[in-house]
Amino acid sequence: MDTDMFVAWFEEAARLVHRDRERLTRLDAAIGDADHGTNLDRGLTEVHKALTEWPPESPVQVLTSAGTALIRRVGGASGPLYGSVFRQMGKVLESPVTLAGFSAAFEEGVVAVERLGKAAPGDKTMVDALAPASRALALAVRDGVGVREAFEQAARAAAEGAEATIPMQARKGRASYLGERSIGHEDPGAASAALFMAALATVAP
Ligand code: ADP
Ligand code: MG
Repeated sequence: MDTDMFVAWFEEAARLVHRDRERLTRLDAAIGDADHGTNLDRGLTEVHKALTEWPPESPVQVLTSAGTALIRRVGGASGPLYGSVFRQMGKVLESPVTLAGFSAAFEEGVVAVERLGKAAPGDKTMVDALAPASRALALAVRDGVGVREAFEQAARAAAEGAEATIPMQARKGRASYLGERSIGHEDPGAASAALFMAALATVAP
């Protein structure tokens, strides 16, 4: 896994979020303030700009640059949260990047989000898509499957995790103000996290 793959990951994530920005905003309209699609679309446009203006020379530089751009440009809770996933990954990722190394770094990124957002699985947040994806990657490493299949399994786990937020009651973030009325809607951050994992599966070597 090289620098180009990591750049392609964010370019593909930007494409998917731009394509689905209205769906993400609609999900946020139901249980938040209707800005998640535009927030993340703006942030990923900034990521693209950063990666183009200062071409990264390593996977770590991609992650750090993308994380920083997301923190700077996504207004809203999700910017710092996504930023911390990628910046933490960048802190611990070893080169050359193997599947086991990617999986370990991703797991630490998810822990960073859980710590920053004080969120656990079941709280109806992006963690409900990210944590199953992380678990799927760890299992794939254990079972010795190839990178592409591992990323596909992680993408499936994230999509299932996002869908599983529908019957949950939100305990964190803006949606938690709705109490029981948050039940019955997919969490927008979990939905966008599933797009990040889908993008990863697409660019797998
Ligand atoms: P805001 O809520 O500030 O408008 P966004 O709409 O961009 O920010 O993002 C909302 C998403 O952020 C939620 O759907 C949820 O997945 C995620 N989120 C919010 N608060 C937390 C938290 N404390 N921990 C983890 N994720 C959170
Ligand atoms: Mg919002």
